[in-house]
Amino acid sequence: MPLYKDQIIKIYNSLTGEKEVFKPITEGNIGMYVCGPTVYSNVHLGNVRTFMSFDVIFRYLTHLGFKVRYVRNITDAGHLENDADEGEDKISKKARLEQLEPMEVVQRYTVDFHNVLNTLNFLPPSIEPTATGHLIEQIEIIKMIIDNGFAYVVNGSVYFDVHKYNETHEYGVLSKRKLEDLINNSRELQGQSDKKNPQDFALWKKADSRHIMKWPSPWGDGFPGWHIECTAMSTKYLGEHFDIHGGGIDLKFPHHESEIAQNVAARGIAPVNYWVHTNMLQLNGQRMSKSTGNTVNPHELLSGNNTFFSKAYSPSVIRFFNAQSSYRSILDLTDDGLKASEKGYHRLMEAINTSDSLKASSTSTFNVSEWRQKCYDAMNDDFNSPILVAHLFEGAKLINQIKDNKASLTAEDLNLLKTTLHDFSFEVLGLVNETKEDSSADKLSGAVDILIKMRNEARQNKDFALSDKIRDELAEAGIQLKDSREGTTFTTN
Ligand code: AMP
Ligand code: ZN
Repeated sequence: MPLYKDQIIKIYNSLTGEKEVFKPITEGNIGMYVCGPTVYSNVHLGNVRTFMSFDVIFRYLTHLGFKVRYVRNITDAGHLENDADEGEDKISKKARLEQLEPMEVVQRYTVDFHNVLNTLNFLPPSIEPTATGHLIEQIEIIKMIIDNGFAYVVNGSVYFDVHKYNETHEYGVLSKRKLEDLINNSRELQGQSDKKNPQDFALWKKADSRHIMKWPSPWGDGFPGWHIECTAMSTKYLGEHFDIHGGGIDLKFPHHESEIAQNVAARGIAPVNYWVHTNMLQLNGQRMSKSTGNTVNPHELLSGNNTFFSKAYSPSVIRFFNAQSSYRSILDLTDDGLKASEKGYHRLMEAINTSDSLKASSTSTFNVSEWRQKCYDAMNDDFNSPILVAHLFEGAKLINQIKDNKASLTAEDLNLLKTTLHDFSFEVLGLVNETKEDSSADKLSGAVDILIKMRNEARQNKDFALSDKIRDELAEAGIQLKDSREGTTFTTN
């Protein structure tokens, strides 16, 4: 029986502002869409935080036995500067500045994105669609919206008619904004663009002569609006109505608000049951952001090559740091915070290493099943990873007490303790036991050092048969010895 049958999961739904019991549309199956990166520059750690939070959510739901279809797109066109409807496409701007083909820009930063995510031990999503690979679907939806009377065509562009939509529906259900407030706060003046009203947003934009990324459409050559891309890609793979849609909180308005309006206008149905928004990662008290330059990228944090932090931090320490805060809280990236996470991470890994050599007893002094359920309860409560980490520390403490003969567990309980720590640390939080890898590397190097010493002794005794045998058999095992004036070293292949 899948684990989820015994668990009640609650998710904070941004649409209702409440934690709700999670019930998938189809039992045992979950469709989840997360807005992916716009690939015009290297991802920064703020982007990584959002994607990592969804990686943990994906991991946990999969761990519970759900069949999750996780779709995370690549935005490779249509995202204009300042997330606006006017201005240059972020990717073609970069291509212009660096004298590259737009596709070179897309390729370069998609590769960077994947490298970063692999280094940080992300699971790949089930489907990673690109916006430019789904233009036909976008054009189809735009036609449906026009046919239903919620969009209009002007000079080769198509705009969503927010005012018309608001007569029968509510533009603002997600972001809790009122159209009147949007009208009052609008900086765009009437008549500045082709729009009937400044609140309308582009579904399709006519490409001017400078625009190099353009495609044919029933309305002429142009390119899609950013919001319609996600509507097309999410509903193509997850259906017109699916379970979870995620992204950073900054995408709530206008991006996600408009996705809802588009789906309702095209198909008469709100697309998503649970909207999940992650909060922002900050650096120096300010949101980490590409546009302001207040960023550190993952390579800089991993290599220590930056001006913000005292040292390099490993991939698992970065994951552990992220897990120590709720995805809904603002998180400050600080040296002290990272150092504390590094300590905590090592404490947990050392306890897991120690658990391998613990002996079972005839009685248990601790209720492991109850503790295990607390770990599930933490994650069931809107993926509360910091509480989970607190429980994992409790498990680590218990291991140290058993080692010091201050507590005991039966073989069955000991096993359950170990499995739970493994499941949550590695499968759910996606940590890697870097301490164990180090220690096996240390052990190998210790063993080879002994053989090098024996070979040196054999040479001194003029027992060249033995010294050659040691060298040759090590080489066969993939370990090459290298003699130099400073001594003998080895490399592995
Ligand atoms: P972008 O490539 O700018 O479209 O952003 C990709 C994702 O990263 C979106 O879901 C954003 O909401 C998210 N994001 C951007 N900045 C931050 C930040 N400082 N903290 C957390 N998430 C962020
Ligand atoms: Zn999106």
